[in-house]
Amino acid sequence: MTNDRTQGLDGLFRPRSVAVVGASRRPGSIGRQVVANLIRGGFEGPVYPVNPKAEVVLSVPSFASVRAIPGKVDLAVLVVPPDAVLRVAEECGKKGVKGLVVITAGFREIGGIGIEREDKLRAIADREGIEREAKLARIAAKYRMRVVGPNCMGIVNTEPGFSLDASFSATLPRPGAVAMVSQSGALGEAILADAAQAGLGVAMFASVGNRVDVTAADLLGYWEDDPHVRVILLYLETVGEAADFVAVARRVARKKPIIAVKSGRSDAGAAAASSHTGSVAGADVAVDTLLAQCGVLRVDNFRDMFALARALLDQPLPKGPRMAVVTNAGGPGILATDALAASGLSIDELSKATTKALQKALPVEASTRNPIDLIASADAARYRAALRPVARDPSVDGLVVLFVSPVMIDAAAVAQAIVDETKGCGRPVLACVMGRQRGDEAQRILDGGGIPVFRYPEDAATTLRAMLRRQHWLQRRPTKLPKLRVQRAAAARILARYRDGGWVAGNDAEAVLAAYGVPFPESRRVRTAGEAVAAAHELGWPVVLKAESRELVHKSEHRAVRTGLRNGEEVFAAANDLLTRLRGEFRDLRLQVQSQAKGHREVLVGMTRDPRYGPVYAAGLGGVQVEVMRDVAVRVGPLDGDDPREMFLGLKGARLLGPFRGAPAADVQLAGTALLRLQQLVEDFPAIAEVEINPFILAAPGGGSVAVDGRIRLEAR
Ligand code: ADP
Ligand code: MG
Repeated sequence: MTNDRTQGLDGLFRPRSVAVVGASRRPGSIGRQVVANLIRGGFEGPVYPVNPKAEVVLSVPSFASVRAIPGKVDLAVLVVPPDAVLRVAEECGKKGVKGLVVITAGFREIGGIGIEREDKLRAIADREGIEREAKLARIAAKYRMRVVGPNCMGIVNTEPGFSLDASFSATLPRPGAVAMVSQSGALGEAILADAAQAGLGVAMFASVGNRVDVTAADLLGYWEDDPHVRVILLYLETVGEAADFVAVARRVARKKPIIAVKSGRSDAGAAAASSHTGSVAGADVAVDTLLAQCGVLRVDNFRDMFALARALLDQPLPKGPRMAVVTNAGGPGILATDALAASGLSIDELSKATTKALQKALPVEASTRNPIDLIASADAARYRAALRPVARDPSVDGLVVLFVSPVMIDAAAVAQAIVDETKGCGRPVLACVMGRQRGDEAQRILDGGGIPVFRYPEDAATTLRAMLRRQHWLQRRPTKLPKLRVQRAAAARILARYRDGGWVAGNDAEAVLAAYGVPFPESRRVRTAGEAVAAAHELGWPVVLKAESRELVHKSEHRAVRTGLRNGEEVFAAANDLLTRLRGEFRDLRLQVQSQAKGHREVLVGMTRDPRYGPVYAAGLGGVQVEVMRDVAVRVGPLDGDDPREMFLGLKGARLLGPFRGAPAADVQLAGTALLRLQQLVEDFPAIAEVEINPFILAAPGGGSVAVDGRIRLEAR
C-alpha cells in the first residue's frame, strides 16, 4: 500500500543513477568502500564519485561537485564530514536528487560510526548535532527528498535491474527473499554477514541510523506488497514512532512474517512507577507485548532470527501444537521431546493407523510410540517407512526429524528420504542433524529440499514455538467490547478536585471506580476508635480496618491493614494501635472500616500509561505478594473484549483461578470486565497516569466478588 510514508522510497531503493559525495581514493576509507560496493554489486546505472580533489575514483571519473555531474542523479550517498552535510544536501536538492543516504555521523547521536577522527567527533557538542539533524530534515522536506540516516551504514537492493549496494558493508549479500532493517550500523554489518552464513538471500537492506526521515515503520509499509520480499527482519534498539509502527506492523504481519530482535530487555525504566502494575509492567514488558500484539515475532538473538526466517520461507505453519519426533537415537529423542514440551508444544499419541503401520514396518526393538525411535541401525528405507505415515497423520501438526549419523549409514540417502517422504505433507518439517559438519552432502540435500537443519533440538523447538505463535496470531480475531454502563459525570466531578495531580484519596478513588461499575464492599470512613466500633456494628461481622492517607500508598507495608476483626473490642484495640502508631507520620490519617470480602482468590487489574506506548494494562495474581510472584500478564491498549480472559488464562498460576483442591473456580469473567471498565475510565480521563485494583477478591461466579483496594494517580493539569 502506498501512502505518505512510503512515497518516494523508490528514489532511494530503485535509483537509475547514484552519486557518492565524499568518494575517496584512500584505501580503507568509507568513501572508497561505497564506490567499490556499487561497482562490485553490479549497479545497473551510472555511478558518479564526487570529490573535488580527485579525477578518478576506482577507475570511475570523478566530479568536483554534485552540480557538475552532467546527467540526472536519483540517489546521493553522503560520506562527507559532518559540517559539509547540510551544504551538500542543499546542493542535491537543487540538482533534483530524490533520495539521500547520509552515512556521515555527528548528529543526534554521540559516538557511532565516525568518518572523521574519533576525538574530533566527540568534540561535536550534543546541541550542534541535534540542530544539524533538524536542519537536514528541513532541507529534505523542502526538496521532497527521502533520507536514510544520518549515521548509518547504507542501503541495499538486490532486485534485478538495480543491483544496488549503496553501503560500506564488507559482505555482498546474494539476492533472496528477506528484507532487513537495522537501527544499528555496526550490527547491520554483522547481520548481513550472518545472514549470508545462514544461507539467507537478501532482497533489500537498510541501516536506518538516526532515522531523521525513513523509519522501520516506513520500510515495513514499503515492503508490504513487494513480491520479492517474503520475510522481514528487524533489529530494533527502540520502537520509535510507536503508533505508526503498530498500525503498519499489524497490517503487514497479516501478509508476511516480521521477525525482530529488540535489544534492551533489562530496561530499568519501570522503577519510576509507584504502583504494583507499574513495577511489574516494565518498559521492556511493554515492548514485548506491543510487538506480540501486532504480530511481530520477537526472538532473543540473531541465530534464532535467521533460523526462523528460513523455516518461514520454506515451511508451512503448524496448525496446532502436536509434534511428532522421529529419531534414530534415544537420547536426542528425549532432548527434543523435553525441548518441545518446554516450548509449549506437545508430543501426543499418534493415530491408530499410524501406530499399526509403524509396528508393521519397524523392528521390534524400535519404539513405535511418539517420540518414534528407529534405533541406530535405521537406514534410508526405515526412515521412509516411518515418515510416510507419520507425515500424513491427522493427529500430527509438525515433525522434528533427528538423525545422529552412524558411520555405517548412508547419511545422504537418509536426507533424501526425509525430503521425499515429507514433501507436500502440509506440515512443518524441521531436521536436526547431530554429529556432522555443515556443508556436507546430507545437509545440502536437506537445504535443497527446503528443510531447515538444526544442530540442536532446542533450537528447532524455539523455531517451532515461534511458528505456532504466528499461526495463533493469524487466527485470532478481535472480539468486540461489551457495552459498559458508567457514570462519567460523577467520576469527572471527583477527579476535577485534583488539578495538581498525584494520588487520589482512597475514598475518592473508590468512588470513581464504583462510578465505573467496579463493585466494592460496604465501608465507612471514620476518625476515632469509637466511631470505628460503631461503624463495624452497622456493617456486620467480620470487618477489616485500614489506615488511610494520601501518602500511604502501600498500606500493608505499614501494618495498616487488619483483617478478620470479629467484635467491638478487637476493632477498638486495632483502631487505637493504628492511630497511635501512624498519626504522627501521616497528618491526614483516617480509618476505613470495610466489610470483609468472602472470596477466596486475589487478582489485580491495572493500567500504567507508558510515555511511548500509551496505556499498558495488567492482569495478574494479586494481593500483597505481586512483586514476589510477578505473575502478571501485560497488554498494550486498546484491549478488545477477549483480551482480559486471555491475559488471565495466560498466567503461570492460571490453574489457581479454576477449581483447585476443593475450592471452586473463581469469577475471572468479573475481573476481566473490571479491567475493561478501567480501560473505559482511562480513555475517558487521559489525566489518569496509573490506576490499579489490588486485590480484586474473587469468589465463585455469582458469589459476591469485590474490589477491596483501588488507587488512582493523576498527572497535574
Ligand atoms: P495495601 O495494598 O495498601 O497494602 P489492601 O487494602 O490491598 O492494602 O489490603 C492488603 C491485603 O489485605 C489484601 O491483599 C487482602 O488480602 C486483605 N484485605 C484487605 N481488605 C480486605 C477485605 N475487605 N476483605 C478481605 N481481605 C482484605
Ligand atoms: Mg492492595
